[in-house]
Amino acid sequence: MFENKERTDLALLGEFGLIKHLTSNFKINHESSVKGIGDDAAVLNFEQKQVLVSTDLLLEGIHFDLAYMPLMHLGYKAVQVNLSDIYAMNGMATQITVSIGLSSKFPLEAVEELYKGIELACNKFNIDLIGGDTSSSKQGLVISITSIGYAEKNEVVYRSGAQEGDLLCVSGDLGGAYVGLQILEREKLIFLENPNIQPDLEGKDYIIERQLKPEGRKDIVSLLSQLEIIPTSMIDVSDGLASEIIHICTQSEVGCTIYEDKLPIDPMTYETARELGLDPTVCALNGGEDYELLFTIKQADYEKLKHDVDVTVIGHMTDKASGAKMISKSNVVHELKAQGWNAFKL
Ligand code: ADP
Ligand code: MG
Repeated sequence: MFENKERTDLALLGEFGLIKHLTSNFKINHESSVKGIGDDAAVLNFEQKQVLVSTDLLLEGIHFDLAYMPLMHLGYKAVQVNLSDIYAMNGMATQITVSIGLSSKFPLEAVEELYKGIELACNKFNIDLIGGDTSSSKQGLVISITSIGYAEKNEVVYRSGAQEGDLLCVSGDLGGAYVGLQILEREKLIFLENPNIQPDLEGKDYIIERQLKPEGRKDIVSLLSQLEIIPTSMIDVSDGLASEIIHICTQSEVGCTIYEDKLPIDPMTYETARELGLDPTVCALNGGEDYELLFTIKQADYEKLKHDVDVTVIGHMTDKASGAKMISKSNVVHELKAQGWNAFKL
């Protein structure tokens, strides 16, 4: 994908030259970042706060496909996906480290694109890049990001705190990233058959963006704090709603009932799913990669939240023995199954 562009061999810069070149634009903004890039370890100071740490590993061909994922988007998404885990603990993310493995097919210009996306995400979400590691790889691109954040001790929200009677809420809308991916896959196949045909993505911008440029829901964490709501449990929707609901149910030892007609699905997601012969509800339940926040609140907190259009109550928690259920539009009870994406099911 870099054939027609300028190509500077990474070997010309050397490892230290490359790190310096890639990271020179990044600024340190947080007081908690005592020392960033440049020594053997970064130094952080969070005083009395609880420190949150989360890591993701992304491998080319397993987690992303550079045929339709531009490198800048990949850099942006890799950071967002990671921040999302900190937000899912009801925390604020402040720092990341970025480690990369690069095969010889990547010229400097490609790595610059990747870092442009990383920089964009850092600027937009006020994140300090405080370190990382750089290595060559035999095949393809490897990225591992670690994000660091904080929360007050009484404000950290685990998956395990949901109680019977709590309301189950989700931010934004669901299924878009999955349906967007189906469109990108379709266009990739058409392109492979006939490289002269331009991809037809018209009118699909929202769902393509949901797939290529997801946004961690920092705004929801801020909103909950403003409304003085501490969710009883929370998780981010990375593998698919059904799978995340089951995580909350298992770890909280409760059951849950959700209602199909309450699931927030964007009209473009709905129509495109239908166009592709997919069931929009299944896309919302099992699609994954939406990076919305799924959380439970006490019924007493509902009043504070009920006017917020970006949060939908989709059901409530029941007792453990009742299991995780969905009531369909035609009033049929379905058991929720975790059919989310599984890293080991290739
Ligand atoms: P070490 O040999 O101790 O691992 P390095 O030479 O790999 O140190 O790294 C030097 C500095 O640059 C360290 O602060 C490290 O965290 C940072 N760094 C290395 N690679 C990256 C990268 N890909 N992105 C951001 N910072 C990096
Ligand atoms: Mg190193």
